[in-house]
Amino acid sequence: MSQQPYLFSPMAQPVRDDTVVSVVAMREGLMTEKRGAIAQGMRGGSGGMSVCVLASGSGGNATVVRYRGQAILVDAGLGPVSITKRLHQAGLMLSDIRGICVTHLDTDHFRPTWPNTLVGYGIPIYLHRWHVDDLMKNKHASRLVRANLIRPFDQQPFEPIAGMSVRCVRLRHDDKGTTGFSLDTPVGRIGYATDLGCVPREMIELFAGVDLLAIESNYDPVLQRSCGRPIFLQRRIMGGAGHLSNDEAFAAVQQIIEHSPDGPPNHVVLLHRSSQANSAALVKQVFAQDPRLQGKVVLTQQRRRTRWLQVTRRASATMGQMSLFERRA
Ligand SMILES: [Zn+2]
Repeated sequence: MSQQPYLFSPMAQPVRDDTVVSVVAMREGLMTEKRGAIAQGMRGGSGGMSVCVLASGSGGNATVVRYRGQAILVDAGLGPVSITKRLHQAGLMLSDIRGICVTHLDTDHFRPTWPNTLVGYGIPIYLHRWHVDDLMKNKHASRLVRANLIRPFDQQPFEPIAGMSVRCVRLRHDDKGTTGFSLDTPVGRIGYATDLGCVPREMIELFAGVDLLAIESNYDPVLQRSCGRPIFLQRRIMGGAGHLSNDEAFAAVQQIIEHSPDGPPNHVVLLHRSSQANSAALVKQVFAQDPRLQGKVVLTQQRRRTRWLQVTRRASATMGQMSLFERRA
């Protein structure tokens, strides 16, 4: 959008690098893939919005959001080969991805192995301007620059795909912080926040009224103190600039619901569960305290993607769900 000082035009044509494409394609078994092809899984829901968390946890995070026959990733914390495999499982191809919105540049959110593949496929990376310097430390970052694929944003909304407006909120996490996203379309809205040490009022306000809320529920404090991690690491995680505990995530969800005139989101997707300092049972125990969340909570996993979650305005929410948690959680 031309009025934004940090935003390159989303419509700019990327530079094609056939060498990279063919190498990547051979590695990934995608030699028959055609750029711009819409995978089988995209055809059915071409008018709607849906979300699939491909992976979540300290071993790598990636979520795909599709809207009207196009798709973006939020984070790419697995390498290109792994994400391509999981996209295939979800009915998509890498060539269907129109951009990657990156929360921050820790390697579990953006693998440094991505730049050549991004250039090959012409996929832009959207990241907060505060993270651009860190991205430029990547030894292949200059190729992204030459291909005009780095799209820094600030506080102004941007559109990674037509009809999807993305707004951001800055969140505390280590030195450079992280970014929470609101992804808004005419059919529904998503709030996405992970790796945040605390929950600012701005995030509650931004996420009020979302139809799908994805938020980390990282650790249980008792397990965190007893799982054998060094004290400095425990302090980093629990000190207000690391991660959210289950109770902190639950409190944030409750605050967002209280600020949402239409009630709770259709889906509350819990991200980045620690394998050492948390468990699915503990997360369920905490979120079961609020009966308004019955049938809405989805626990994500490191090794397995979620099902596709439809994002619709609350007026068309499905009624009659009997279980608090989904079967695959
Ligand atoms: Zn992380």
